[in-house]
Amino acid sequence: MATHTESVQPDPYTPDGLAQLLADEPAYRRDQVAEWLAKGIDDPAEMTNLSKDLRARLAEQMPARPRVLKVSESDGGLTRKVLLECGTAGAAEAVESVLMLYPATGDRSARAGSTARAGRATVCISTQAGCAMGCPFCATGQAGFRRQLTVGETVRQVTVMQRLLAGSDGAGELGSAGLPDGVPDYVTNVVFMGMGEPLANLDVTLEAVRWLHGPFGLSARSITVSTIGLVPGIVKLAELDLPITLAISLHAPDDDLRDDLVPANRQHPLAEVFGAARHYLQSTGRRVSFEYVMIDGVNTTLEQAASLRQLLATHMPSGSAHVNLIPMNPTPAVPWTAPSISDQRAFARVLDDGGISTTIRANRGNDIDAACGQLYANYQMASGRMLPAAVGAADRIAQR
Ligand code: SAH
Ligand code: SF4
Repeated sequence: MATHTESVQPDPYTPDGLAQLLADEPAYRRDQVAEWLAKGIDDPAEMTNLSKDLRARLAEQMPARPRVLKVSESDGGLTRKVLLECGTAGAAEAVESVLMLYPATGDRSARAGSTARAGRATVCISTQAGCAMGCPFCATGQAGFRRQLTVGETVRQVTVMQRLLAGSDGAGELGSAGLPDGVPDYVTNVVFMGMGEPLANLDVTLEAVRWLHGPFGLSARSITVSTIGLVPGIVKLAELDLPITLAISLHAPDDDLRDDLVPANRQHPLAEVFGAARHYLQSTGRRVSFEYVMIDGVNTTLEQAASLRQLLATHMPSGSAHVNLIPMNPTPAVPWTAPSISDQRAFARVLDDGGISTTIRANRGNDIDAACGQLYANYQMASGRMLPAAVGAADRIAQR
């Protein structure tokens, strides 16, 4: 799990890093520091039950909190994208995270059958600066790979939001609008759907999930890891033995098209990905989500919907798969767009009619480039061009 920053400074969000930082201290100090970190208190100066000397030493040796460079708001304040700078000089990287607020709905004195829902505050986090997977429809993919994030850099995207939500960083840091009514002032859900492929930074992702579920105290069900389908990583995720939600990005109903839309399919074709999905289902008892970006003229004909339905029926036990359809979000230099709403609905209906639970994702923060696949921090994307391999994939798709 060695990365630039960890080799310089121990990462207190890992058991090893904490032990290293507090090697000369009595064992209970580790619990004290871990408790502060879990509360989102990551400035040693605020860890009031530690001696002054220890606080000063930790302030020098602990990686600094990511700096909030910019907050962009959309959806009437319900979506906020935060640009963070992680790491120290020489290894500093810009990373984006998104906070999505969902106010409580309906009557929460809730009779049976009521559709009332408690409010949620979901944070979408990144595990890598950039991504090496090269999916041609994704802005992060076009930015290329910069570096792995550490465990601390990954989970601190959550604790930064927690502090901002609780107002402990002062009014205004979360943007100009106050918190809307009916939303919690703490983080309720975390989705690993930001920049990067979580299972290509596997040890960090596993440790981050453990931390969010353990010290930070999120229920496993409120944590979602989204992957392009890296099979060895899915097997490791199952071994965590926590019923977190696994989301697999499918995007095509056959290997031919998926080879172009998801280059990792050449290493892990559909049959193998579904084998891993079934293994995950059997190990955790959790239904698996399948994400499918709807790209007009590429993967959304009614025939393709029928093939997808057939694919899921063949590979997944009945009722064990959920499909999340994501209308394609604009990506710089990429010529593709989402189909019309009626075409999206027609596609969804084919799956629904086949008994497959399906939702069309209402994308958040499209106008501030905060929606799925739009995160690329402030990287210069080769003057707004697609990667050469992605251009090749798009050409092959166009000639089909
Ligand atoms: N690398 C992981 C997780 C991050 S991407 C993965 O790919 O699963 C989170 C989701 O956004 C994935 O389902 C991804 O396919 C989707 N996505 C990427 N680019 C998109 C775009 N331009 N429009 C809509 N969804 C996109
Ligand atoms: Fe990476 Fe996911 Fe984007 Fe593909 S869709 S390039 S795996 S972030």
